[in-house]
Amino acid sequence: MTGSLTAPSETVTETDEEFRARFRAFLVAHHPGRRPRGDTEQRAWQKAWLATLFDGGFAGPSWPREYGGMALDFPRQVIYQEEHARARLPGPQGTGLGIAAPTIITYGTPEQKERFLRPMLRGDEVWAQGYSEPEAGSDLPSLRTTARRDGDEYIVNGQKVWNTHADYADILFTLVRTGTQESRQKGISYLLIDAHAPGVTVRPLRDLTGGTHFSEIFFSDVRVPVSNRIGEENEGWPLVRTSLGHERAAGAMNQAALYRRVLSELTELARERGATADPIVRDRLADFEVRVRIMRYTGMRTISDIMARGEPGPASSTSRLFITAFEQDLHEFAVDMLGADGLLTRDDERAVQRGRWVGGFLSTRASTIGAGTAEIQRNTIAEQVLGLPRDPAMPSR
Ligand SMILES: Cc1cc2nc3c(=O)[nH]c(=O)nc-3n(C[C@H](O)[C@H](O)[C@H](O)COP(=O)(O)OP(=O)(O)OC[C@H]3O[C@@H](n4cnc5c(N)ncnc54)[C@H](O)[C@@H]3O)c2cc1C
Repeated sequence: MTGSLTAPSETVTETDEEFRARFRAFLVAHHPGRRPRGDTEQRAWQKAWLATLFDGGFAGPSWPREYGGMALDFPRQVIYQEEHARARLPGPQGTGLGIAAPTIITYGTPEQKERFLRPMLRGDEVWAQGYSEPEAGSDLPSLRTTARRDGDEYIVNGQKVWNTHADYADILFTLVRTGTQESRQKGISYLLIDAHAPGVTVRPLRDLTGGTHFSEIFFSDVRVPVSNRIGEENEGWPLVRTSLGHERAAGAMNQAALYRRVLSELTELARERGATADPIVRDRLADFEVRVRIMRYTGMRTISDIMARGEPGPASSTSRLFITAFEQDLHEFAVDMLGADGLLTRDDERAVQRGRWVGGFLSTRASTIGAGTAEIQRNTIAEQVLGLPRDPAMPSR
C-alpha cells in the first residue's frame, strides 16, 4: 500500500467527475490487494481496509458528517458504489452498517450516537443482528427472548438463531420481549447487547457452502444497561420497520454495481471458454444484461426514496426480490455453463476462478430467505405497494 492516508479534501466547486477521479485515485493508492485465503486472515484484511477508508474520509457515503460519514448527494452515492464495486474491495464486517446505524441515527440519544456510530463505521466494533428465534422468523412478533428490568439494568434470557457474523461480533442489536408474551409487537424493545458479556454464548452454524456464516446465540441472565435500549421500552417495533427497510434498501445500489462487474466477468469467461458460440448462452447473457440495468435503476429509485422521505419504504422489497432472484439465476447459469469444471470448490487447485461460481451458486440459495423470505417480500409488495387485501395470517409490520 502506498500514498498518503488522507485524500485531498473536497472543494465546493468539485464536479461529480472530479469526485469520481479523487475517489478512484484513493482506491488505487490504498488498495488492500487480493483477498487472503484463511478466515482469520480475511477478517484482519477487511478490518484494516475499513479503517483505511474511514481515516481517509471515504467511509459512510450516506452517513451524516458528524459521525464520520460523507453525506453525499444522490449522484455521488451512485458514483461511490460504482467505483467501490469496480475496485474489488472488501465489504463491511457484520450487519450493523445498513441496519442498526440508520436506526441509531434516527432514534438514538446523542450519547448513543457518540458511543456507537464512529467505531461501527471504522470497523473497530463488529455488529450482528439478533432478531430471529427458533419459533420467530417471518412471524417476528412471536419472539420469546425476555428482558426483565432490574434497576438500571435488564436481565436477558432466551435464544436467537441464524445470526450472520455473530461468531466474531462485538455488539448484538437485538429484539427482546419487555412486555407480556400476548403483547406481541406492543411489548418488544430494541436492545444493544455486548457480545462478550457474561452469559452470552455464540455457537457457529455450518451452512451448505461449508462455511460458518451465521450462528445461534444463547442468553443466560445477561445484564445489559438500560442506557443500551434504543427508543422507549415496549416501543421497539417501529424501529424494526426502519431497520428492515434499510436492510433491504442497503443492498440495492451496491448490489447493482457489484453485479455490473460480475456479469462482465462472467461474459468474459463465457467468451474465453468458447461458450458464446451457443445462441442459448448469448440469449441468457443478454437477459442478465437487461436485468442488471433494471437493477441499477431500481437501486437508484430506492436511494432517491430514502433521500426524499428518510425511509426506503415498502418498495425496497421490490428491489430485494429482484436482486435475489437474479443472483440465484446468474450463478445457476454459470455453473451449468462450466459443466463438471464448475463444480470444483475453492479448496481444489483446478477450480475455475477459485470456485467462485459454485460458491456463489451455493451461498445464494439462502438469499431468498435472509432479510425476509421471498414470500414475505411478495406479501409486502402486494399489500403495501399494490394495495391488495392483507394476508390474514400475518401481524401488521
Ligand atoms: C443467510 C441468512 C442470514 C440470516 N441472517 C440473520 C441475521 O443476521 N439475524 C437474524 O435475526 N436473522 C437472520 N436470518 C434469519 C431470517 O431472517 C429468517 O430465516 C427468515 O425471516 C425466515 O424465518 P424462518 O427461518 O423462521 O422461516 P419461517 O418464518 O418459519 O418460514 C418458513 C416458510 O414459510 C413461509 N411463510 C411464513 N409465513 C408466511 C406467510 N405469512 N405467507 C407466505 N409464506 C409464509 C416462508 O416464506 C418460508 O418459506 C438469516 C437467514 C439466512 C438464510
